Amino acid sequence: MRIWQEWKHRSLGAIVTARIRSWWMVEETPLPWSQAEDAAARASDAIPVCHRCFTPYALPVWFCSCCGSAVGPYNNIMPFVRIFSLGEALRSGVGPSAHFTPFRTLAYVSIGFVEYQIFAPLYFYRLYRNYRKLSHAASVREDVARTNGSGPNIAP
Ligand SMILES: [Zn+2]
Repeated sequence: MRIWQEWKHRSLGAIVTARIRSWWMVEETPLPWSQAEDAAARASDAIPVCHRCFTPYALPVWFCSCCGSAVGPYNNIMPFVRIFSLGEALRSGVGPSAHFTPFRTLAYVSIGFVEYQIFAPLYFYRLYRNYRKLSHAASVREDVARTNGSGPNIAP
């Protein structure tokens, strides 16, 4: 019964993550913000904001009115809305601000394979093209920074 009471205030993902951490006795990492800011963000009267553009929104809403990002608490489990939420996640891999890590690349490939099925090679081509483009842009920035003698540039 306790999980149903928690679900009113927290997302299912946060609840499951907390339970798994408690089972495996994983210590939580310290928060990068103060306890007061954390309490303010978790308050019942806190205003939720889009995770991409920080535009405030009022529930119930599924997508940000400014950038179209999936912001609803149940987007990933609603049958129709889930399609758009997954589409947004997969588009982030072929967008200009994609951040490729081994885990994310594996997730893009595996989810793309499952979701796009016979169209997956088209997605993989766009993913590979974006990966090469972003890698080339990063190497050019490092070359320019090295030429200027200012060290590697970590800004996007
Ligand atoms: Zn937004």
